Parts: sequence; C-alpha cells; structure tokens
Amino acid sequence: MSQKLLVVEDEISISTLLQFNLEQAGFQVVTAMDGKSGLEKAESEGPNLIILDLMLPEMDGIEVCKELRQRKLNIPILMLTAKDDEFDKVLGLELGADDYMTKPFSPREVVARVKAILRRTAVNADSDKQKEEVEHLRIGEVDIYPENYEAYFKEKALELTPKEFELLVYLARHKSRVLSREQLLSAVWNYDFVGDTRIVDVHISHLREKIESNTRKPIYIKTIRGLGYKLEEPQ
Ligand code: CA
Repeated sequence: MSQKLLVVEDEISISTLLQFNLEQAGFQVVTAMDGKSGLEKAESEGPNLIILDLMLPEMDGIEVCKELRQRKLNIPILMLTAKDDEFDKVLGLELGADDYMTKPFSPREVVARVKAILRRTAVNADSDKQKEEVEHLRIGEVDIYPENYEAYFKEKALELTPKEFELLVYLARHKSRVLSREQLLSAVWNYDFVGDTRIVDVHISHLREKIESNTRKPIYIKTIRGLGYKLEEPQ
C-alpha cells in the first residue's frame, strides 16, 4: 500500500508541483490550502507525513504544528519556509517539525527528504516497539533486562555469573517479598529437595558486593532474620 502525504500549501503552483512529483514517486497525495483545513485533514486522513508551509492563511504552519503536537498526532512534518527565514526554521524545528526546506526547492529534493524522514521515523517506531517489549526491572539504581541477560548498577554493566543473575532477577520479580532460602534454592537452582541453603547465602553475599555500597548495611538485599531475604527499593 502506498504511503499517504498531506501537502498544506496555499500557493497553488507549488502545491500542484509537489503533488505531481510526489505522485510520480509513488505516494498518495492529499492537499489543503490553509492551516485550518490542513489540521482537519491531518486528523481525518491520517497521513504518514505532512508537508507544511509556514506562511498560511487561517492558521500558520507554526500554529498547525503546535496544535498537532497538542492533539498527540505524531505525524512527521517537513516544514516549508521562505528564503532567509532562519528564525522561523529554528522555531519550526523546536515545535516538532522533523525537517525543513527553504523555497525555492527542487521537487526531486523534496521527494528525497520525504523518503529520508519516513525511513528515519519507521526505524524509530521499530526501536520504540522493541523497547516496550523487553522486560525491564528497576529497583533503585539497579536496572535489569532479563531477556537480554543484562543488569546495570548506576548505569554500569554488572558482571554476574548466570546463577547470580537468575537470583537477582527472581528477587527483583518478587520485590518487597520475603523469600526463604528454600524457596530461592528451588526457584534458582531447581532443587526440589531441601539442599544445602548455604549456596544461597554465598550468592547473596556476592550480589551484595556488586550492588551495595556497604555490604554490612545493605540497602537493597535485606536479611530477614529467621526467614530469608528480601530485595527492596532503597529508602
Ligand atoms: Ca504560503
């Protein structure tokens, strides 16, 4: 399916030129002649990108830009500005335009810019999606990404053995809960019998060396006398 572009431009010659060249490049093009109808079409047509002229009747490009962001319409914007309008360019970019072009421009350049913005935003959308899908556990200054087998303390990668890592993940997923040594042994070491729980203590002490600034007074992994351990948010 071809991507849809919205061209908001009040100069008919420029609008026609853009529409022709963008359609030649395989895009579907919708046009609007002023800012107000441009905004309406941005909502009703759901374009993949908007080419937005700065100087427009009804609502200018900057107002359209602001209003789009306010309505949380995250459609990429290529702003068109008049020559030497440096201030407006900067302002346009600050308001959330993705790129700008100064008139006069060659239609070929517009097509190239449009493609570049669409490529860039597609990549960003993908990586945003990936970030959402990856489980992230955060306790104080400890960040854990279980699926990636990565953990960080104060944004520095922690060097953990596989069992230390699994233990940390298990504690983090059961944050603020008291876990007995037997429970940890069975969850992390898969011991379904009452084994030697000292192995848990040894691993806890190794973890503390890596994430506690004072292992004698731990603020993350607390010992609950007679019961076991608990990982909690530092106070
Ligand atoms: Ca204009």
